[in-house]
Amino acid sequence: MNGWFGFIGVEFGLNQGIVTVPGLQAVVDIPMATVPFGNVPVWPLLPSEERLLSAMSVPGMTFGCPSAGAARRRRSNGNRFIFFGRRKRRIPAPDPGTTMNALALLLLASPLVHGGAAHHPQRDFANVEIRATPVAGAVHMLEGAGGNIGVSVGEDGILIVDDQFAPLADKIRAALKSLGEGKLRFVLNTHWHGDHTGGNASFGGEASILAHANVRKRLADPPRGQPSPKEALPVVTFDESLSVHFNGEEIRMLHLPDGHTDGDSVIHFTGSNVVHMGDLFFAGRFPFIDLGSGGTVDGYVRNVETVLADVPADAKIIPGHGPLSTREDLAAFHRMLRETVRFVRERKAAGKSLADVQAEGLPAEWASWGWEFISAERWIEIAWGGAR
Ligand SMILES: [Zn+2]
Repeated sequence: MNGWFGFIGVEFGLNQGIVTVPGLQAVVDIPMATVPFGNVPVWPLLPSEERLLSAMSVPGMTFGCPSAGAARRRRSNGNRFIFFGRRKRRIPAPDPGTTMNALALLLLASPLVHGGAAHHPQRDFANVEIRATPVAGAVHMLEGAGGNIGVSVGEDGILIVDDQFAPLADKIRAALKSLGEGKLRFVLNTHWHGDHTGGNASFGGEASILAHANVRKRLADPPRGQPSPKEALPVVTFDESLSVHFNGEEIRMLHLPDGHTDGDSVIHFTGSNVVHMGDLFFAGRFPFIDLGSGGTVDGYVRNVETVLADVPADAKIIPGHGPLSTREDLAAFHRMLRETVRFVRERKAAGKSLADVQAEGLPAEWASWGWEFISAERWIEIAWGGAR
């Protein structure tokens, strides 16, 4: 079917979904209340009628559904839209009958209609368990929902790298307590995304938040979503690198150029021999690259290369998403990036359309790397959008 039959995926708790219709995408604000998070992987979410219609009311799109007038009227409901990737363009108006069937299908499948977790925000996170895994030396990893948390525990107290979502703060606190009695002293943010900084507002009252300067900028004035309150903002920022001397080792935050966003840092626990990669590493899956926050495909691949060149062979690597990994896993991720991006670009250079490449698909070798949020199709589109 041509037209707007879409899908909303949850973008790692950015409080936003991505509406995909043939030929264009829109990012749509979704209140956290409608996002049913479980443990990783994040569940797909289908939109409510309101949001779907809102998404379709962006200027420049035409839309053949009888409710188009209503959709336009609803434009002023406060939702914000950002287009990225390809330039927005008019899409052919679908047959109204087909359109309404599609809408009916979407609504039937929607958790909002079934009265699922979406209506009860407090339940969205109720089932999330925070699991702690010892990594090496003073470092542990916490997994719950959202980005993996790195923890340093020792005589100086506790330091964490990223803090998942705000509603999980108490559970994270309890998990930290089970690792050590020390006080939480520092929170390091690998980048600004809400599934890595959602707990800032809660932990900012008791600990100092450290991050690259662009993390503070984007939290205070985000390209989408709501500005963060003051207590959620990093109080110490840096441009290139920063070291925290804590629990008997140097914990180094190294900023890398535009990649996943324009404020990415990789954290190296130098004594424990552990690296937290933030979202410059999605273990065993296609990554999200936030082209709307200064991320670039070329930069992303280069940054992974940079880390790979430096990281000791026996280091433990905490990915932004996915299980605890090794240098070998990071090398596999890097090979996937290089080969799939080259695959897409060769076809683009040969004059193929994005749709052609998506229809052809990636080589079978990469079949298992697709997941709920970044399918092979979506990854092809990201790689395509980043091609110069
Ligand atoms: Zn991210």
